[in-house]
Amino acid sequence: MDFLVLFFFYLALLLTGGVLICICSRSQYWKGLVGKGAQVISCLIPECLQRPVQRLLHYLFHSRNPTFIVLHLVLQGLVYTEFTWEIFGYCRELDFSVSYLLLPYLLLFVNLLFFALSCGSNPGTITKANELLLLQVYKFDEVMFPKNVRCPTCDLRKPARSKHCRVCNRCVHRFDHHCVWVNNCIGAWNTRYFLIYLMTLTASAATIATLSTAFLVQVVFFSDLYLETYIDDRGHSRVVDIVFLVQYLFLLFPRIIFLLGFVVMLSFLLGGYLCFALYLAATNQTTNEWYRAGRTPGQHCCHQAPPSSTTPQIFQNMHSHGIWSNLREIFLPATCYEKKKK
Ligand SMILES: [Zn+2]
Ligand SMILES: [Zn+2]
Repeated sequence: MDFLVLFFFYLALLLTGGVLICICSRSQYWKGLVGKGAQVISCLIPECLQRPVQRLLHYLFHSRNPTFIVLHLVLQGLVYTEFTWEIFGYCRELDFSVSYLLLPYLLLFVNLLFFALSCGSNPGTITKANELLLLQVYKFDEVMFPKNVRCPTCDLRKPARSKHCRVCNRCVHRFDHHCVWVNNCIGAWNTRYFLIYLMTLTASAATIATLSTAFLVQVVFFSDLYLETYIDDRGHSRVVDIVFLVQYLFLLFPRIIFLLGFVVMLSFLLGGYLCFALYLAATNQTTNEWYRAGRTPGQHCCHQAPPSSTTPQIFQNMHSHGIWSNLREIFLPATCYEKKKK
């Protein structure tokens, strides 16, 4: 039982840590703490290992590489192998509906399709050929995105809402962020693929978690396990309680319990991130703008008029025109072949 308690403690810690990082990532205080933490860790690493560790971190997070794509596919493969190998068969024996059991595979198919599109599609690279066209898509707010600014690396004029990605070494139109899991920038032309990828990934984790839980509950009810009694360490007869049931199921189906812990944790983390991504989509903000808004003086409001030339010091989100219009902008983005009328 001690091991099980530690396992749940570990999951709770991971979950709390993930949520805390999401909440606090905007505060300077938190950044100071992270910086100090990195300094402490670098002191603990032997000097001879510091350079290789720095190189490894640089390779993983500051250069385009397929490491996280491979890791993503391996983890997804492991989850689906366990689901197919054990849960699917057990659930069939317990007469679960085939349509429910096939749902994770349907989600996997759609997910892999949009994963490939997120990885391989053009996020909105700004080139000499489309520079002039993209300059007309969004208005400059003169606070976060001033007019007539050139990218020193690409030597191109920067359209409003664009940013130079240091990992990919290119300027991206309506830059959201660089995602290591898809090894690509998320920008104007592939945010739609990324959102559907995120939705199907969350849904597949939640579906597998639900089916695994339903299977374990059925096992308990069909075997009337909850009506049984057991003899505890002191020799007393006790009615089976929830702690005993969890321990018993863990010994009976260890892989399924591990899988359940993993997909539940994933469902919460991905669900939280999906809510954040949908909030940004609905309010027509990019992650880059949301992050920088916290550091730009002034309020961050979604439905106000653009700042006039005499009061350009307060950042305001001037691109939001209602939820449906904002979502249409993401799912039907202005392409390099089409000039968006403003
Ligand atoms: Zn650039
Ligand atoms: Zn990038």
